[in-house]
Amino acid sequence: MRSISILGATGSIGSSTLDLIRRERDQWRVVALTANGNVTELAKLAREFGAEVAVCADASRLEALRAALAGSSIAAAAGEGALVEAASRPADMTVAAIVGCAGLAPTMAAIAHGRTVALANKEALVSAGEVMTALVTKHGTTLLPMDSEHNAIFQCLAGNSHKDVRWITLTASGGPFRDWSLEQLGGATAAQAVKHPNWDMGAKISVDSATMFNKGLEFIEAYHLFPVGLERLRIIVHPQSIVHSMVEYRDGSTLAQLGPSDMRVPIASCLAHPARMDTPLSDQLDLAAIGELTFRAPDEVRFPATRLAREAARSGGGIPAVLNAANEVAVAAFLAGQIGFTRIAAAVEEVLCRYAPQAPAALDEVLAVDGEARAVAHALLAGG
Ligand code: NAD
Ligand code: MG
Repeated sequence: MRSISILGATGSIGSSTLDLIRRERDQWRVVALTANGNVTELAKLAREFGAEVAVCADASRLEALRAALAGSSIAAAAGEGALVEAASRPADMTVAAIVGCAGLAPTMAAIAHGRTVALANKEALVSAGEVMTALVTKHGTTLLPMDSEHNAIFQCLAGNSHKDVRWITLTASGGPFRDWSLEQLGGATAAQAVKHPNWDMGAKISVDSATMFNKGLEFIEAYHLFPVGLERLRIIVHPQSIVHSMVEYRDGSTLAQLGPSDMRVPIASCLAHPARMDTPLSDQLDLAAIGELTFRAPDEVRFPATRLAREAARSGGGIPAVLNAANEVAVAAFLAGQIGFTRIAAAVEEVLCRYAPQAPAALDEVLAVDGEARAVAHALLAGG
């Protein structure tokens, strides 16, 4: 029996993870489950899985969480400090599935306790970069990539040496607007953006997928997870989302990982690592039914996000954290109907021009850069 904590248990990744654990209940003991403000769902999950502790990030929801857990032996806690405390509790595996830089401090706490961390929360790694990878090295933590592309690359690299890698190619679906003209993109709505053709995901990553910022963040994520050098990383658009990414070696061999567009596959790969486990979709890759797999180069005129991310990765230091924070603010404004779709990338580029911090050397410095970049983005969007 292994113990597990899930940060962001009520989200899309959290639910898919719990769906797999539900099928193997006798093999897992649940330590901590966390959420933002949805205490009803959090308490329901904590009761179902017999969690030790349930934590909501929104401190004003503590009384509601306590009430929802009344009569159980599950501890209730709230606020950012409680999130970090829960992430520090001993567990064999922690799934980092909070959305955004809000997940950074608890993810760092999980890493510092030297266990296996399965990382879905790409914004945390993009923002902290070397500050996070240094902590992983310091504590000997196993960091397993849960993002489907990075999980694919991780599988394709197994048994090989980074020095033999010629290319790591991240595939991108291109999102719901991949065939839209610039003019059409100008009128894209939030409802259209969150309806992804292949994947069922949270609202923020769905918008990121539509702008291609998701692929930009994943480019920076790959740079940190697989240190082969920026010049060996590239992106290709693959609308069917069947090939989840690939690695080309210097002898001309390319290894790819294929699978259905369902996050339970990479999640299962992390949960069972280094073994394999059943998923409810084991035999669903019907290539004859799919018929064709197609590929094309990304269009960085209509979708500047991958260019901005590549430039941010090249600059390094605090610049990727600025890119991420500006994007989080712009996506929230777009989802709230305050700005248009094409304004997201334009705003991120403008914030990158306005704010170029020193390279952060520790978690508190990363969080300071994140906070400052958010302030610059808010001021910009408010017309300042
Ligand atoms: P989601 O919005 O469905 O869920 C987010 C979770 O984080 C929820 O449990 C929510 O309560 C919690 N949360 C939100 N704001 C918080 C805050 N301020 N403090 C603490 N907790 C907070 O998101 P998701 O789609 O599950 O994505 C989670 C992460 O996984 C993101 O970083 C995303 O990029 C990454 N990811 C998601 C998918 C996917 O298919 N959904 C695939 C790859 C990677
Ligand atoms: Mg991905």
